[in-house]
Amino acid sequence: MNKPRKAVYQIADLRAVQEERFQHQMDLVFAGHPYYKEVFDREGLTRGDFRCLDDLRKLPITRKEDYIARPQEFRLRLDQVEGVSREERTVWDIIYTAGSTSDPTPFYDTSYDHYARISQLKRTAEIAGITQEDTVMNLFPLTSVPHQGFLSVLWGSQAVGAKLVSSFGGSFDGGFQLIRRSRETIDLIERQGVTVIWGIGFFLRRLVITAEEMGRDFSRVRLVLPMGEGSSAGMREDIRRRIANLGASDVRVLNGYGFTEMHGPSMECSEMGGFHLPKPARYFFEILDPETFEPLPEGRPGLVVMTHLDRRGTCLLRYLVGDICTMSSEACPACSGWEPRFSSIPYRTGSIVKVKGTLVNVSALIDVLSRIQGIEEYEIILTQKDRTDPFSEDIMLIKTTCPQHVFSSVSGQIREAVRRNQEVTPEVEWVPLEHFAATQMNYKFKRFKDERVRSHQTAPG
Ligand SMILES: [Zn+2]
Repeated sequence: MNKPRKAVYQIADLRAVQEERFQHQMDLVFAGHPYYKEVFDREGLTRGDFRCLDDLRKLPITRKEDYIARPQEFRLRLDQVEGVSREERTVWDIIYTAGSTSDPTPFYDTSYDHYARISQLKRTAEIAGITQEDTVMNLFPLTSVPHQGFLSVLWGSQAVGAKLVSSFGGSFDGGFQLIRRSRETIDLIERQGVTVIWGIGFFLRRLVITAEEMGRDFSRVRLVLPMGEGSSAGMREDIRRRIANLGASDVRVLNGYGFTEMHGPSMECSEMGGFHLPKPARYFFEILDPETFEPLPEGRPGLVVMTHLDRRGTCLLRYLVGDICTMSSEACPACSGWEPRFSSIPYRTGSIVKVKGTLVNVSALIDVLSRIQGIEEYEIILTQKDRTDPFSEDIMLIKTTCPQHVFSSVSGQIREAVRRNQEVTPEVEWVPLEHFAATQMNYKFKRFKDERVRSHQTAPG
Protein backbone atom coordinates (compact mmCIF):
# COMPACT_ATOMS: atom_id res chain seq x y z
CA MET A 1 0.00 0.00 0.00
CA ASN A 2 2.91 2.34 0.68
CA LYS A 3 4.44 2.45 -2.75
CA PRO A 4 7.43 4.76 -3.21
CA ARG A 5 6.02 8.13 -4.15
CA LYS A 6 6.92 9.74 -7.42
CA ALA A 7 8.56 12.85 -6.09
CA VAL A 8 8.94 14.83 -9.27
CA TYR A 9 6.40 15.04 -12.01
CA GLN A 10 5.57 17.69 -14.55
CA ILE A 11 2.43 19.14 -16.02
CA ALA A 12 2.48 16.48 -18.77
CA ASP A 13 2.39 13.71 -16.14
CA LEU A 14 -0.09 15.40 -13.85
CA ARG A 15 -3.26 13.87 -15.21
CA ALA A 16 -1.74 10.37 -15.25
CA VAL A 17 -0.60 10.67 -11.63
CA GLN A 18 -4.02 12.03 -10.66
CA GLU A 19 -5.79 9.15 -12.45
CA GLU A 20 -3.64 6.57 -10.68
CA ARG A 21 -4.24 8.13 -7.27
CA PHE A 22 -7.94 8.46 -7.99
CA GLN A 23 -8.25 4.72 -8.56
CA HIS A 24 -6.60 3.96 -5.24
CA GLN A 25 -8.63 6.63 -3.45
CA MET A 26 -11.87 5.17 -4.82
CA ASP A 27 -10.84 1.69 -3.64
CA LEU A 28 -10.53 3.12 -0.14
CA VAL A 29 -13.78 5.10 -0.40
CA PHE A 30 -15.71 2.01 -1.51
CA ALA A 31 -14.06 0.03 1.30
CA GLY A 32 -14.77 2.41 4.15
CA HIS A 33 -16.47 5.76 3.59
CA PRO A 34 -19.86 5.84 5.36
CA TYR A 35 -21.23 8.93 3.62
CA TYR A 36 -20.31 8.06 0.04
CA LYS A 37 -21.33 4.42 0.46
CA GLU A 38 -24.80 5.76 1.20
CA VAL A 39 -24.66 8.01 -1.88
CA PHE A 40 -23.45 5.12 -4.09
CA ASP A 41 -26.34 2.95 -2.87
CA ARG A 42 -28.85 5.73 -3.44
CA GLU A 43 -27.55 6.50 -6.93
CA GLY A 44 -27.02 2.85 -7.88
CA LEU A 45 -23.28 3.39 -8.47
CA THR A 46 -20.68 0.63 -8.18
CA ARG A 47 -16.88 0.63 -8.10
CA GLY A 48 -16.86 -0.16 -11.82
CA ASP A 49 -18.60 3.13 -12.56
CA PHE A 50 -15.43 5.07 -11.65
CA ARG A 51 -12.74 4.11 -14.17
CA CYS A 52 -11.34 7.61 -14.65
CA LEU A 53 -11.67 11.12 -13.27
CA ASP A 54 -14.30 12.06 -15.85
CA ASP A 55 -16.56 9.45 -14.23
CA LEU A 56 -16.68 11.63 -11.14
CA ARG A 57 -19.45 13.56 -12.84
CA LYS A 58 -21.76 10.60 -12.17
CA LEU A 59 -21.53 11.58 -8.52
CA PRO A 60 -23.67 14.41 -7.12
CA ILE A 61 -21.92 17.47 -5.71
CA THR A 62 -21.10 17.38 -1.98
CA ARG A 63 -22.13 20.64 -0.34
CA LYS A 64 -20.58 22.16 2.73
CA GLU A 65 -23.93 21.64 4.50
CA ASP A 66 -23.66 17.88 3.86
CA TYR A 67 -20.20 17.75 5.42
CA ILE A 68 -20.82 19.93 8.45
CA ALA A 69 -24.06 18.12 9.28
CA ARG A 70 -22.29 14.72 9.59
CA PRO A 71 -18.51 15.22 9.71
CA GLN A 72 -17.88 11.80 11.30
CA GLU A 73 -19.39 10.09 8.27
CA PHE A 74 -16.83 11.74 5.99
CA ARG A 75 -13.97 9.92 7.74
CA LEU A 76 -12.56 6.88 6.03
CA ARG A 77 -12.84 3.82 8.30
CA LEU A 78 -9.97 1.62 7.19
CA ASP A 79 -9.44 -0.57 10.28
CA GLN A 80 -10.83 -3.69 8.62
CA VAL A 81 -9.30 -3.00 5.21
CA GLU A 82 -6.49 -5.33 4.20
CA GLY A 83 -3.10 -3.81 3.47
CA VAL A 84 -3.77 -0.45 5.13
CA SER A 85 -0.80 0.60 7.25
CA ARG A 86 -0.92 1.88 10.80
CA GLU A 87 0.03 5.36 9.56
CA GLU A 88 -3.01 5.39 7.31
CA ARG A 89 -5.35 4.37 10.13
CA THR A 90 -4.08 6.39 13.11
CA VAL A 91 -5.62 9.80 13.81
CA TRP A 92 -2.77 12.27 14.26
CA ASP A 93 -4.58 15.59 14.38
CA ILE A 94 -7.98 17.23 14.06
CA ILE A 95 -8.23 20.62 12.39
CA TYR A 96 -11.45 22.61 12.47
CA THR A 97 -13.31 24.57 9.88
CA ALA A 98 -16.37 26.78 10.27
CA GLY A 99 -19.53 24.91 11.21
CA SER A 100 -23.23 25.42 10.82
CA THR A 101 -24.07 27.19 14.05
CA SER A 102 -21.66 27.49 16.92
CA ASP A 103 -19.78 24.22 16.61
CA PRO A 104 -16.76 24.12 14.30
CA THR A 105 -16.48 21.12 11.98
CA PRO A 106 -13.66 18.60 12.53
CA PHE A 107 -11.36 17.58 9.66
CA TYR A 108 -9.35 14.44 10.53
CA ASP A 109 -5.72 13.88 9.58
CA THR A 110 -4.20 10.42 9.97
CA SER A 111 -0.42 10.13 10.36
CA TYR A 112 -0.24 9.63 6.59
CA ASP A 113 -2.22 12.85 6.02
CA HIS A 114 -0.04 14.67 8.51
CA TYR A 115 3.11 13.87 6.54
CA ALA A 116 1.29 14.80 3.35
CA ARG A 117 0.37 18.11 4.99
CA ILE A 118 3.98 18.83 5.94
CA SER A 119 5.28 18.06 2.47
CA GLN A 120 2.58 20.25 0.93
CA LEU A 121 3.35 23.17 3.25
CA LYS A 122 7.04 22.77 2.49
CA ARG A 123 6.23 23.37 -1.16
CA THR A 124 3.96 26.31 -0.22
CA ALA A 125 6.81 27.94 1.69
CA GLU A 126 9.17 27.31 -1.24
CA ILE A 127 6.74 28.98 -3.67
CA ALA A 128 6.65 32.03 -1.41
CA GLY A 129 10.46 32.00 -1.45
CA ILE A 130 11.13 31.09 2.20
CA THR A 131 14.55 29.47 2.72
CA GLN A 132 16.94 28.25 5.42
CA GLU A 133 18.26 31.79 5.66
CA ASP A 134 14.92 33.07 6.96
CA THR A 135 13.50 33.66 10.40
CA VAL A 136 9.71 33.49 10.26
CA MET A 137 7.30 35.20 12.65
CA ASN A 138 4.06 33.20 12.98
CA LEU A 139 1.39 35.80 13.67
CA PHE A 140 -1.54 33.37 13.70
CA PRO A 141 -3.20 33.48 17.11
CA LEU A 142 -3.72 30.78 19.68
CA THR A 143 -7.33 29.73 19.23
CA SER A 144 -9.83 27.64 21.16
CA VAL A 145 -9.76 24.92 18.47
CA PRO A 146 -6.94 24.11 16.01
CA HIS A 147 -7.09 26.10 12.77
CA GLN A 148 -5.32 25.77 9.47
CA GLY A 149 -3.34 29.04 9.48
CA PHE A 150 -1.21 28.34 12.54
CA LEU A 151 -0.27 24.92 11.16
CA SER A 152 0.66 26.35 7.76
CA VAL A 153 3.32 28.61 9.26
CA LEU A 154 4.46 26.03 11.79
CA TRP A 155 5.08 23.20 9.34
CA GLY A 156 5.85 25.23 6.21
CA SER A 157 8.66 27.15 7.92
CA GLN A 158 10.13 24.14 9.69
CA ALA A 159 10.00 21.93 6.62
CA VAL A 160 12.16 24.30 4.58
CA GLY A 161 14.59 24.61 7.51
CA ALA A 162 13.80 28.20 8.43
CA LYS A 163 13.90 29.44 12.01
CA LEU A 164 10.48 30.04 13.54
CA VAL A 165 9.07 32.25 16.29
CA SER A 166 5.39 32.50 17.19
CA SER A 167 3.58 35.54 18.51
CA PHE A 168 0.95 33.67 20.56
CA GLY A 169 -1.59 36.41 20.06
CA GLY A 170 -5.26 35.77 20.63
CA SER A 171 -7.83 36.00 23.37
CA PHE A 172 -8.11 32.44 24.69
CA ASP A 173 -5.20 30.83 26.52
CA GLY A 174 -7.09 28.72 29.06
CA GLY A 175 -5.73 30.83 31.90
CA PHE A 176 -2.13 29.73 31.20
CA GLN A 177 -0.96 33.27 30.49
CA LEU A 178 0.68 32.53 27.19
CA ILE A 179 -0.76 35.41 25.19
CA ARG A 180 1.79 38.02 24.16
CA ARG A 181 0.90 41.66 23.69
CA SER A 182 1.71 43.38 20.40
CA ARG A 183 4.66 45.14 22.01
CA GLU A 184 6.23 41.82 23.04
CA THR A 185 5.74 40.44 19.52
CA ILE A 186 7.38 43.55 18.07
CA ASP A 187 10.30 43.05 20.49
CA LEU A 188 10.65 39.48 19.22
CA ILE A 189 10.64 40.58 15.59
CA GLU A 190 13.50 42.98 16.32
CA ARG A 191 15.54 40.73 18.59
CA GLN A 192 15.29 37.65 16.36
CA GLY A 193 15.93 39.61 13.17
CA VAL A 194 12.70 38.33 11.64
CA THR A 195 12.76 38.28 7.83
CA VAL A 196 9.28 36.88 7.09
CA ILE A 197 5.98 37.86 8.76
CA TRP A 198 3.09 35.45 8.11
CA GLY A 199 -0.39 35.88 9.58
CA ILE A 200 -3.94 37.14 9.11
CA GLY A 201 -3.79 40.28 6.97
CA PHE A 202 -5.76 42.53 9.22
CA PHE A 203 -3.75 41.77 12.39
CA LEU A 204 -0.48 41.81 10.53
CA ARG A 205 -1.16 45.31 9.29
CA ARG A 206 -2.27 46.48 12.71
CA LEU A 207 0.98 45.18 14.23
CA VAL A 208 3.00 47.02 11.60
CA ILE A 209 1.10 50.24 12.38
CA THR A 210 1.84 49.82 16.10
CA ALA A 211 5.53 49.26 15.36
CA GLU A 212 5.50 52.37 13.20
CA GLU A 213 4.00 54.43 16.01
CA MET A 214 6.73 53.13 18.31
CA GLY A 215 9.48 53.82 15.77
CA ARG A 216 10.80 50.26 15.81
CA ASP A 217 13.33 48.50 13.57
CA PHE A 218 11.97 45.96 11.05
CA SER A 219 14.91 46.42 8.70
CA ARG A 220 15.49 42.66 8.28
CA VAL A 221 11.96 41.98 7.01
CA ARG A 222 11.89 41.09 3.30
CA LEU A 223 8.66 39.12 2.88
CA VAL A 224 5.17 39.62 4.28
CA LEU A 225 2.36 37.07 3.90
CA PRO A 226 -1.03 38.53 4.83
CA MET A 227 -3.56 35.68 4.66
CA GLY A 228 -7.33 35.74 4.68
CA GLU A 229 -9.30 37.41 1.97
CA GLY A 230 -7.30 38.52 -1.10
CA SER A 231 -5.05 41.48 -0.41
CA SER A 232 -5.80 44.51 -2.54
CA ALA A 233 -3.05 46.36 -4.38
CA GLY A 234 -3.64 49.31 -2.06
CA MET A 235 -3.25 47.22 1.06
CA ARG A 236 0.02 45.78 -0.25
CA GLU A 237 1.36 49.22 -1.08
CA ASP A 238 0.31 50.46 2.34
CA ILE A 239 2.13 47.62 4.15
CA ARG A 240 5.21 48.10 1.97
CA ARG A 241 5.30 51.84 2.69
CA ARG A 242 4.87 51.34 6.43
CA ILE A 243 7.56 48.65 6.63
CA ALA A 244 9.84 50.94 4.63
CA ASN A 245 9.33 53.46 7.44
CA LEU A 246 10.61 50.73 9.78
CA GLY A 247 13.81 50.38 7.75
CA ALA A 248 13.04 47.55 5.30
CA SER A 249 13.32 48.09 1.57
CA ASP A 250 11.99 46.03 -1.36
CA VAL A 251 9.52 44.06 0.77
CA ARG A 252 7.40 41.57 -1.16
CA VAL A 253 3.76 41.19 -0.05
CA LEU A 254 2.35 37.83 -1.17
CA ASN A 255 -1.11 36.42 -0.68
CA GLY A 256 -2.42 32.86 -0.39
CA TYR A 257 -5.75 31.25 -1.15
CA GLY A 258 -6.89 28.09 0.52
CA PHE A 259 -9.30 26.38 2.84
CA THR A 260 -9.03 23.83 5.60
CA GLU A 261 -10.18 20.99 3.35
CA MET A 262 -7.10 21.41 1.09
CA HIS A 263 -4.49 21.32 3.91
CA GLY A 264 -3.07 24.76 3.29
CA PRO A 265 -3.04 27.70 0.94
CA SER A 266 -2.19 27.87 -2.70
CA MET A 267 0.44 30.60 -2.86
CA GLU A 268 1.52 33.53 -4.98
CA CYS A 269 5.12 33.52 -6.19
CA SER A 270 4.74 37.16 -7.24
CA GLU A 271 2.26 39.86 -6.39
CA MET A 272 -1.09 39.37 -8.15
CA GLY A 273 0.51 36.56 -10.21
CA GLY A 274 -2.02 33.83 -9.31
CA PHE A 275 -1.96 31.16 -6.62
CA HIS A 276 0.22 28.11 -7.31
CA LEU A 277 -1.15 24.73 -6.19
CA PRO A 278 1.63 23.36 -3.99
CA LYS A 279 0.86 19.64 -4.56
CA PRO A 280 -1.47 19.50 -7.54
CA ALA A 281 -1.67 15.69 -7.82
CA ARG A 282 -3.32 15.40 -4.41
CA TYR A 283 -6.47 17.11 -5.60
CA PHE A 284 -8.67 17.21 -8.61
CA PHE A 285 -10.30 20.58 -9.19
CA GLU A 286 -13.30 21.22 -11.37
CA ILE A 287 -14.44 24.74 -12.28
CA LEU A 288 -18.18 24.57 -12.94
CA ASP A 289 -20.76 26.90 -14.38
CA PRO A 290 -22.74 28.29 -11.40
CA GLU A 291 -26.04 27.95 -13.27
CA THR A 292 -25.72 24.59 -15.02
CA PHE A 293 -22.91 22.90 -13.04
CA GLU A 294 -21.30 21.99 -16.38
CA PRO A 295 -17.47 22.20 -16.60
CA LEU A 296 -16.19 25.51 -17.94
CA PRO A 297 -13.28 26.05 -20.32
CA GLU A 298 -10.05 27.11 -18.67
CA GLY A 299 -9.85 30.77 -17.77
CA ARG A 300 -13.58 31.20 -17.16
CA PRO A 301 -14.62 31.93 -13.55
CA GLY A 302 -16.77 29.24 -11.98
CA LEU A 303 -17.56 27.23 -8.86
CA VAL A 304 -14.48 25.61 -7.34
CA VAL A 305 -15.17 21.90 -6.77
CA MET A 306 -12.47 19.76 -5.13
CA THR A 307 -11.95 16.00 -5.00
CA HIS A 308 -9.35 14.50 -2.67
CA LEU A 309 -7.04 12.05 -4.43
CA ASP A 310 -4.75 11.08 -1.58
CA ARG A 311 -6.54 11.19 1.77
CA ARG A 312 -6.88 8.68 4.60
CA GLY A 313 -8.76 10.67 7.28
CA THR A 314 -11.56 13.00 6.22
CA CYS A 315 -12.13 12.50 2.49
CA LEU A 316 -14.31 14.62 0.21
CA LEU A 317 -15.38 13.98 -3.36
CA ARG A 318 -16.77 16.70 -5.63
CA TYR A 319 -16.83 19.12 -2.72
CA LEU A 320 -18.32 22.51 -3.46
CA VAL A 321 -15.86 24.82 -1.78
CA GLY A 322 -18.17 27.83 -1.95
CA ASP A 323 -15.81 30.08 -3.90
CA ILE A 324 -15.74 31.26 -7.49
CA CYS A 325 -12.36 31.37 -9.22
CA THR A 326 -10.54 30.68 -12.48
CA MET A 327 -7.70 28.22 -13.07
CA SER A 328 -4.75 28.31 -15.42
CA SER A 329 -2.44 25.44 -16.36
CA GLU A 330 -0.06 27.60 -18.35
CA ALA A 331 3.47 27.88 -17.01
CA CYS A 332 3.77 30.83 -14.64
CA PRO A 333 5.16 33.88 -16.46
CA ALA A 334 6.85 35.05 -13.26
CA CYS A 335 8.65 31.91 -12.02
CA SER A 336 8.11 29.41 -14.90
CA GLY A 337 6.57 27.04 -12.34
CA TRP A 338 4.42 24.37 -13.96
CA GLU A 339 1.88 23.86 -11.18
CA PRO A 340 -1.62 25.00 -12.15
CA ARG A 341 -2.68 28.25 -10.52
CA PHE A 342 -5.89 29.81 -9.30
CA SER A 343 -5.60 32.76 -11.61
CA SER A 344 -8.07 35.33 -10.28
CA ILE A 345 -9.03 36.68 -6.89
CA PRO A 346 -11.48 34.15 -5.43
CA TYR A 347 -14.78 35.22 -3.97
CA ARG A 348 -17.68 33.51 -2.26
CA THR A 349 -20.66 32.19 -4.18
CA GLY A 350 -24.06 33.78 -4.27
CA SER A 351 -22.24 36.29 -6.37
CA ILE A 352 -24.03 36.65 -9.66
CA VAL A 353 -26.66 38.97 -8.30
CA LYS A 354 -29.33 41.27 -9.61
CA VAL A 355 -29.06 44.89 -8.54
CA LYS A 356 -31.73 47.30 -9.79
CA GLY A 357 -32.52 44.75 -12.48
CA THR A 358 -28.90 44.55 -13.71
CA LEU A 359 -26.88 41.34 -13.34
CA VAL A 360 -23.74 42.12 -11.37
CA ASN A 361 -20.71 39.85 -11.29
CA VAL A 362 -19.17 40.14 -7.86
CA SER A 363 -15.93 38.50 -9.05
CA ALA A 364 -15.34 41.22 -11.58
CA LEU A 365 -16.27 43.80 -8.98
CA ILE A 366 -13.75 42.48 -6.46
CA ASP A 367 -11.13 42.37 -9.17
CA VAL A 368 -11.80 46.00 -10.09
CA LEU A 369 -11.74 47.22 -6.48
CA SER A 370 -8.61 45.29 -5.57
CA ARG A 371 -6.67 47.12 -8.25
CA ILE A 372 -7.59 50.68 -7.26
CA GLN A 373 -4.58 52.30 -5.63
CA GLY A 374 -5.26 53.78 -2.22
CA ILE A 375 -7.96 51.32 -1.08
CA GLU A 376 -6.70 49.47 1.96
CA GLU A 377 -9.81 47.52 2.89
CA TYR A 378 -13.33 47.38 1.53
CA GLU A 379 -16.57 45.49 1.55
CA ILE A 380 -19.50 45.43 -0.83
CA ILE A 381 -22.98 45.49 0.65
CA LEU A 382 -26.23 45.19 -1.21
CA THR A 383 -28.97 46.84 0.74
CA GLN A 384 -32.17 48.78 0.17
CA LYS A 385 -33.20 52.39 0.62
CA ASP A 386 -35.89 51.32 3.08
CA ARG A 387 -35.05 47.98 4.64
CA THR A 388 -38.58 47.53 6.03
CA ASP A 389 -40.00 47.66 2.51
CA PRO A 390 -39.16 44.62 0.36
CA PHE A 391 -39.92 46.57 -2.81
CA SER A 392 -37.69 49.47 -1.92
CA GLU A 393 -34.91 50.42 -4.34
CA ASP A 394 -31.62 48.45 -4.24
CA ILE A 395 -28.44 50.19 -3.19
CA MET A 396 -24.90 48.98 -3.72
CA LEU A 397 -22.84 50.33 -0.85
CA ILE A 398 -19.06 50.09 -0.79
CA LYS A 399 -17.47 50.68 2.59
CA THR A 400 -13.78 51.41 2.34
CA THR A 401 -10.74 52.35 4.38
CA CYS A 402 -8.15 54.65 2.83
CA PRO A 403 -6.15 57.66 4.02
CA GLN A 404 -8.81 60.31 4.67
CA HIS A 405 -7.15 62.96 2.55
CA VAL A 406 -7.46 60.81 -0.58
CA PHE A 407 -11.02 59.63 0.10
CA SER A 408 -12.73 62.00 -2.29
CA SER A 409 -10.43 60.95 -5.13
CA VAL A 410 -10.68 57.24 -4.23
CA SER A 411 -14.48 57.32 -3.95
CA GLY A 412 -14.68 59.01 -7.34
CA GLN A 413 -12.47 56.30 -8.85
CA ILE A 414 -14.58 53.57 -7.23
CA ARG A 415 -17.87 54.98 -8.55
CA GLU A 416 -16.48 55.41 -12.04
CA ALA A 417 -14.73 52.01 -12.22
CA VAL A 418 -17.74 50.09 -10.92
CA ARG A 419 -20.16 51.93 -13.18
CA ARG A 420 -18.00 51.25 -16.22
CA ASN A 421 -17.44 47.62 -15.29
CA GLN A 422 -20.87 46.59 -13.97
CA GLU A 423 -23.29 49.33 -15.01
CA VAL A 424 -24.35 50.09 -11.46
CA THR A 425 -23.20 53.20 -9.63
CA PRO A 426 -22.43 52.45 -6.00
CA GLU A 427 -22.59 54.65 -2.93
CA VAL A 428 -19.21 54.87 -1.25
CA GLU A 429 -18.71 55.32 2.49
CA TRP A 430 -15.46 55.87 4.41
CA VAL A 431 -15.07 53.69 7.51
CA PRO A 432 -12.16 53.38 9.92
CA LEU A 433 -9.93 50.31 9.66
CA GLU A 434 -11.34 48.97 12.94
CA HIS A 435 -14.64 48.44 11.18
CA PHE A 436 -13.12 45.34 9.59
CA ALA A 437 -11.57 43.90 12.77
CA ALA A 438 -14.52 41.82 13.94
CA THR A 439 -15.26 40.39 10.51
CA GLN A 440 -11.66 39.24 10.04
CA MET A 441 -11.45 37.31 13.29
CA ASN A 442 -12.48 34.10 11.54
CA TYR A 443 -9.63 34.10 8.99
CA LYS A 444 -12.00 34.63 6.11
CA PHE A 445 -14.32 37.52 6.10
CA LYS A 446 -17.02 38.13 3.61
CA ARG A 447 -16.12 40.99 1.34
CA PHE A 448 -19.55 40.74 -0.19
CA LYS A 449 -22.84 40.82 1.72
CA ASP A 450 -26.37 40.75 0.41
CA GLU A 451 -28.45 42.32 3.16
CA ARG A 452 -31.57 42.93 1.15
CA VAL A 453 -34.84 41.77 2.66
CA ARG A 454 -35.78 39.61 -0.29
CA SER A 455 -33.37 37.24 -1.96
CA HIS A 456 -32.05 38.35 -5.33
CA GLN A 457 -29.49 35.64 -5.66
CA THR A 458 -29.56 33.53 -8.75
CA ALA A 459 -26.40 31.51 -8.16
CA PRO A 460 -26.53 28.38 -6.02
CA GLY A 461 -24.78 28.97 -2.76
ZN1 LIG B 1 5.05 31.57 -10.33
